[in-house]
Amino acid sequence: MTKYTIKLNERRDVAEGTMAFHLEKPPGFQFKAGQYMNVTLIDPPETDAEGNTRSFSISSAPFEADLVVATRMRDTAFKRVFRTLSLRSEVRISGPFGSFTLHTDASRPAVFLVGGIGITPFRSIILQAAKDKLAQKLYLFYSNRRPEDAAFLDELQKVENQNPNYKFIGTMTDMRKSQRPWQAETGHITPQMVTKWIRDLKGPIYYTAGPPGMVAAMRQILTTSGIGDDDIRTEEFTGY
Ligand SMILES: Cc1cc2nc3c(=O)[nH]c(=O)nc-3n(C[C@H](O)[C@H](O)[C@H](O)COP(=O)(O)OP(=O)(O)OC[C@H]3O[C@@H](n4cnc5c(N)ncnc54)[C@H](O)[C@@H]3O)c2cc1C
Repeated sequence: MTKYTIKLNERRDVAEGTMAFHLEKPPGFQFKAGQYMNVTLIDPPETDAEGNTRSFSISSAPFEADLVVATRMRDTAFKRVFRTLSLRSEVRISGPFGSFTLHTDASRPAVFLVGGIGITPFRSIILQAAKDKLAQKLYLFYSNRRPEDAAFLDELQKVENQNPNYKFIGTMTDMRKSQRPWQAETGHITPQMVTKWIRDLKGPIYYTAGPPGMVAAMRQILTTSGIGDDDIRTEEFTGY
């Protein structure tokens, strides 16, 4: 396993209560879109039982300059320290890890069923596919309570203009609490919503990532629609 000590270049809000951390990419660090890495705080001023390391999907695409991770900023020791770390401070990373990457059979579409912070590996996959002008059909179903909560929302919508093989289908489940306009789908992702875009549900490979409850909900939708386990790929963000 390769470990690196790198600097925090930038930190920004990407949704309400959700931040992206741009970390320097070490020379020679290579990863595939969809993989994750471990981030370790060095001598943090506070810690807790979970320790100083967390796993994060890499939300930047391999062609981008920085390594970016994004997370919901819950009130835990790790995140209190991470959110206040001075820019140019050092953290340790190890990786990349995992095989949550796009399948190679381009004749089969990829359908991403995503809720909330589970979007992180898909941002990487979708931006890299646009850059590489992949012929593979990609469908992103992206569910959040409100547009305010949806990380990378505008950016993921705009990729449609760069990639004719990519379709963005956003849905919001709690627009009553939103201050932003939303003209598209509302309510949870359902088989009915998916079949509006995918006529033959058995054709694609399906991907879902995020906290275990979310992954279980998405898997249930797929299995009740008759999709076999071989066509479902998941990444659980354990720790939520
Ligand atoms: C492969 C992989 C990829 C991942 N990718 C990402 C990613 O891209 N983005 C991301 O955000 N996370 C990702 N995670 C999860 C991440 O590693 C952390 O576990 C997660 O962000 C929670 O960290 P924390 O510091 O908030 O809570 P922790 O301190 O790790 O929480 C420990 C325990 O306390 C509970 N807990 C803590 N705070 C609260 C609270 N406010 N409310 C309720 N329960 C609480 C948790 O349920 C958990 O059981 C990934 C995990 C894996 C394994």
